[in-house]
Amino acid sequence: MAIKVTKFGGTSMASAESINQVANIVNADKSRAYVIVSAPGKRFKEDIKVTDMLYSCFYDLEIKGECAGNFNKIRERFMGIVKDLELDFDIVPYLDQVEQDMIDNNSAEFCASRGEYLSAIVMAKKLGFEFVDAKDLMVFSPDGEFMPEETNAKVKQVLKNIKKAVIPGFYGADQYGTVHTFSRGGSDVSGAVIARAVKASIYENWTDVNGFMVTDPRIVPNPKQIPVLSYLELRELSYMGANVLHPESIFPVRKEGIAINIKNTFDPQNPGTLIVPEVNPDEVKGRVVTGIAGKKGYSIVFISKSMMNSEIGFARKVLSVFEYYNVSIEHIPSGIDTLSVVVADSEIAGKEEVILEKLRQEIKPDHLELKSGIALIATVGHGMCFNPGTSAKLCSGLAKVNINIRMLDQGSSEMNIIVGVSEDDYEEAIKAIYYAFYN
Ligand code: ASP
Repeated sequence: MAIKVTKFGGTSMASAESINQVANIVNADKSRAYVIVSAPGKRFKEDIKVTDMLYSCFYDLEIKGECAGNFNKIRERFMGIVKDLELDFDIVPYLDQVEQDMIDNNSAEFCASRGEYLSAIVMAKKLGFEFVDAKDLMVFSPDGEFMPEETNAKVKQVLKNIKKAVIPGFYGADQYGTVHTFSRGGSDVSGAVIARAVKASIYENWTDVNGFMVTDPRIVPNPKQIPVLSYLELRELSYMGANVLHPESIFPVRKEGIAINIKNTFDPQNPGTLIVPEVNPDEVKGRVVTGIAGKKGYSIVFISKSMMNSEIGFARKVLSVFEYYNVSIEHIPSGIDTLSVVVADSEIAGKEEVILEKLRQEIKPDHLELKSGIALIATVGHGMCFNPGTSAKLCSGLAKVNINIRMLDQGSSEMNIIVGVSEDDYEEAIKAIYYAFYN
């Protein structure tokens, strides 16, 4: 029988009301066999996520050796949820144990993981499914690195005889039982890992939005929803800041070609966004641009030197300077006598002067300049391949609103055009590109 793996995010787990909604969704389809949950998130704008409260507990423990004040807020949260769900189950002994374990364990990762742990216990009771602890499934190395192949084997072995289970997201453990977490939002990765191991027919990722929008709705009001996109398009968009799904979620499911369906717990009839290995072109006829995403906080090192194109090893010398100073590079657009290196501000911060000086020594440029305050915008879509006029449309869209393009780079896959603009122009540039393709 086809098995579906479902993951519910923090807003879906935030209150008894939303948890009831989750239970309705799971119960509506018998193939929804494995349920991965986040810790309770925000119920309203000013609310605090349980994971954030748990980090506060850790800081309390570091400073005062106890965390009763912050932990009491977590107690209240969970006790309220269990009461409102009218479950015949006493969560207090679990809460007591967690508080004691946090005092004994005193690690940030252990503390942070307890939100998912408790959330999964509650959900398992609500659904009548077995609770399977993520520490027995997700394998990390003692220095905290996730180990995908070991995990895959372990999940297969443990879940072989468990037909329905609720599993906490976000964490796992090493061979000594020490708990480690993924980066924030990592329950998405946990769900993808489980989906791969059980060869799920689909990985449903339930959140609080109707999937991916073509661009950021905080910038463009009511942008179009993306019904379907490919793994590659998702990778490009999420790398550039489209953050509906943790960017690392793609790797486990890609290995088995499993589609991800982003769905909205609060609007379950909406089809959401389907992420597939390859989009069938007939399904998206006429679509040139799938999505537009961007980020601020980049710098560009502009280098020019006449005859650089015939100087063997020139690019290597430039790149080795960045490597020497341990700076990761985003893009390297080049012309005949020019080469630009785009880096994130966070990578180059504090090293600007020494890098420029080293470049001067190594490559003796005619001109060398660092420009900060750059925003990068990725316009992504398989439909752009072999579609003449796409970059012209994009550039004239920007020109119409008087935005100067500081850098333009088209990936060799032809499915991604990156433009660099001044950070002050960022929002206007996103709007201009969106309206150039969607009007
Ligand atoms: N609760 C964790 C966080 O807030 C992990 C997750 O929800 O995916 O980042």
